[in-house]
Amino acid sequence: MGISRLLIANRGEIALRIHRAAHEMGIETVAVHSTADADAMHVRLADHAVCIGPPAARDSYLNVAAIISAAEVTHADAIHPGYGFLSENAQFAEIVETHGITWIGPKPEHIRTMGDKVEAKRTAGKLGLPLVPGSDGAITDPVEAAKIAEEIGYPVIIKAASGGGGRGMKVCTGPHELETLMQQAGSEAKAAFGDATVYLEKYLGNPRHIEFQIFGDGEGNAIHLGERDCSLQRRHQKVLEEAPSPIISPAERDRMGGIVAKAMADMGYRGAGTIEFLWENGEFYFIEMNTRLQVEHPVTEAITGVDLVREQIRIAEGRPLSVKQEDIEFKGHAIECRINAEDAWTFTPSPGLVESYHAAGGMHVRVDSGLYAGYRIPPYYDSMIAKLIVYGRTREGCIMRLKRALEEMVIGGVKTSIPLHQALMNEPDFIHGDYTIKWLEEWLASRDG
Ligand code: ADP
Repeated sequence: MGISRLLIANRGEIALRIHRAAHEMGIETVAVHSTADADAMHVRLADHAVCIGPPAARDSYLNVAAIISAAEVTHADAIHPGYGFLSENAQFAEIVETHGITWIGPKPEHIRTMGDKVEAKRTAGKLGLPLVPGSDGAITDPVEAAKIAEEIGYPVIIKAASGGGGRGMKVCTGPHELETLMQQAGSEAKAAFGDATVYLEKYLGNPRHIEFQIFGDGEGNAIHLGERDCSLQRRHQKVLEEAPSPIISPAERDRMGGIVAKAMADMGYRGAGTIEFLWENGEFYFIEMNTRLQVEHPVTEAITGVDLVREQIRIAEGRPLSVKQEDIEFKGHAIECRINAEDAWTFTPSPGLVESYHAAGGMHVRVDSGLYAGYRIPPYYDSMIAKLIVYGRTREGCIMRLKRALEEMVIGGVKTSIPLHQALMNEPDFIHGDYTIKWLEEWLASRDG
């Protein structure tokens, strides 16, 4: 059924991104916001706005009752959760559907399965995706763990089944520390995620992070939109992403993309999803699936021309996929820089008043941001304040344009990560596409020394 009024259960640049797709489809929007966000751009642009609570996310953006009430009083007929907050909360998805509101996301059972990393790995294995060698499921007995670790070979990584955001992982170099690290990982996971379940995986020494964007219609049809390379990371958090990956050939993209799309079709997956792999020596190893829109989705939009949020909305309306696999062409190159309100080198958060603001522009330059001069960045939420996405016909041209666009960006009054991105653009390893998930931290350490 057609959606006429969409509630966006999020804030910041992603709330704006969803608002834009909705308005282009003739759909009205409802913003929800905390008291700290009353002056935010997503609130100003939406057709309707409802305050759902105080600044702390658990009382506002995670407040299910307040969000459902906001949908009811504004007569919203659909909810888009964005990323983060409630986007991968299966129970929230169920509650939305129980209230007769269209959920713009995957089937709740798929969110639940993929949200548990042990279940996700088991499911991915059954669907024929290549896995990182490791324990077949959760592990509690240290004797059994030692046996498995011996088989797969050290180093191994102990991971929390409910982990996320790069947290809840411990690298173990030998049997002498296995039991202690398992205990530590378990209690840390319990404290952070309320679930002490851990599992074991081979620790890959120097991989790249390559992820595939997929879409399913929920009826057994699925397509892939190629890969993104998200290897530039600090503390397992992405800093810059690009598409296509500099090291994946068109033949390899077709092969692996085909495997991934088939897996999603077999699962009956609905909506947008991302299958994350580590890649080392020409081999892919599944690590997890995200059952939502990703921060870095614009690089895929830039090289395919497909509006991913529009596609999500269409699928939620029960319409078929707007493109067939054979219609999708991968053209040119795109890079996204995540711009955070933080010191570029110490990473100390820097919220506060934005005294001046000017967004970069020109051909093939996109800035997704809710910033404006006079806006006060609240200290309560994620520090990402803008995304700069640049497209070029070649990777080289894309980097040249990105350098130019970074020069144009003005965000006065707060510290930002723009100088970090500018320095990266002059690094030969980055220019040659020669980097792994370890590269950024090693480079940062070498600058300190
Ligand atoms: P999260 O859900 O917390 O993001 P992931 O499983 O996606 O956790 O892993 C996040 C990052 O941790 C990866 O991008 C990679 O940098 C690192 N990592 C995860 N598993 C392994 C592994 N088996 N070997 C080496 N690094 C890993």
